[in-house]
Amino acid sequence: MSSSPLSSLPRVDRVIAHPSLEPLRKRLGSEALTRLTRRVIEAARAAVKGGAPSPSIEEAAAEVARAARAVLAKRARPVINATGVVLHTNLGRAPLSKKASEAVAASAGRYTSVEIDLETGRRGARGAFAEGALAELSGTEAALVVNNNAAAVLLVLSALTAGRRVIVSRGELVEIGGGFRIPEVLARSGARLVEVGTTNKTRVDDYARALGEGGDGEAGAILRVHQANFRQMGFVERPPLTALADLAHRAEALLIKDLGGGAMLDLAPYGLAGEPTVQASVRAGCDVVCFSSDKVLGGPQGGVIVGRAALVERCRRDPLARALRLGRLPLVALEATVASYLEGDLDAIPALAAVRAPVAEVMDRAAAWKQALAERGVASEVIEFSGVMGGGSLAEEVLRSAGVAITGLADETEGGASAEALAHRLRTGDPAVLGRIYEGRVLLDVRTVLPGEEAALIDAVSVAVRGGS
Ligand SMILES: *Cc1c(COP(=O)(O)O)cnc(C)c1O
Repeated sequence: MSSSPLSSLPRVDRVIAHPSLEPLRKRLGSEALTRLTRRVIEAARAAVKGGAPSPSIEEAAAEVARAARAVLAKRARPVINATGVVLHTNLGRAPLSKKASEAVAASAGRYTSVEIDLETGRRGARGAFAEGALAELSGTEAALVVNNNAAAVLLVLSALTAGRRVIVSRGELVEIGGGFRIPEVLARSGARLVEVGTTNKTRVDDYARALGEGGDGEAGAILRVHQANFRQMGFVERPPLTALADLAHRAEALLIKDLGGGAMLDLAPYGLAGEPTVQASVRAGCDVVCFSSDKVLGGPQGGVIVGRAALVERCRRDPLARALRLGRLPLVALEATVASYLEGDLDAIPALAAVRAPVAEVMDRAAAWKQALAERGVASEVIEFSGVMGGGSLAEEVLRSAGVAITGLADETEGGASAEALAHRLRTGDPAVLGRIYEGRVLLDVRTVLPGEEAALIDAVSVAVRGGS
């Protein structure tokens, strides 16, 4: 009995004291490391009961170190986005402009006048500069900024339509992503959903009938939801916004649009045909328009409500507004972003610069990458992407672009590592690089790699092709 295999299990305190864990204890804290160690020893105990040999202290410490590194690897860190997806939700969408980054850096460790009028010393309106600029740019009376567009939609519906009927086409009762479903948000807001039309076709008459039917003056609004992350093709019909605006206003109801992206300029010439501008929605007669500030607007996470002053004011005074307000750092970043719009300096905004870069320029950069990689002994091929390889939502549109396909080491006849293995090494390297795999090769798209990242990217690829650091 005295030599039971369980009694040879390493003691938790001995494993924790192993010198190899010292740096990890510093980064993770003693308590977290103790918890991980207990878990590793418990797992070893179960394995030993099942007949496995007991691990040595070294082996147990190595297992704890692996678990600790896995925890640390969960921290968000910068990634070189070579996917070609300009607004990649999993990569935090729009990278901030230089000015926005500097504004955040300048405010982050300081006190900041977000809600004080320095002229009078009295309390000021939070977000006033950004809101004034966004109203101006949108061509409307007023704006309100909140935490994201999901919050903007929830707030608008709660503040303006609770207890009333909101008419939505069956083609727009959609899930936007991350479980944000229009019917459920509507229900949560306290509005009563009235579905009209069919999945593919909804006509003005469908809306008109639903508006008239109540006859109770309780038709709160028509809600139009932009089909942001999917497309309908073929036998499809939706009325123009102007027709819905007429209809809503004759019935003393509102026309609310969830626009999704916040394009302030027409992006169709650059290949983003399905991204209507904020101004066009306002001009078409929408009373309120909601959009994200980190999609095509190119700013930090945020949601924007623009529209008629009295309506925006009701949203501002709603108790939910306080719960959904924009944080200090994104507010500072949003102000710097809209300032670039006011200055007309659109190329300062990285997401817009990425969308607007001419294909010829993108091709030239791809050729330069191939050359730089060849100088490191890495073989690659310049590829032109038509966009069909991308998929994804419009917010995650892959534009016509170019890049390189990594074929391996120049002096190897065979391909070497599999594309999956290479992609893994790139993702877990330093800096992390995210590409795409297509037909058994790793593709790196030029369009979404920021100009300052190119040298680091070439280095990272060279290291990863050789088997990692
Ligand atoms: C993206 C999107 C949302 C959600 O916006 P977030 O800023 O991600 O909260 C809502 N509606 C539409 C139509 C969208 O495209």
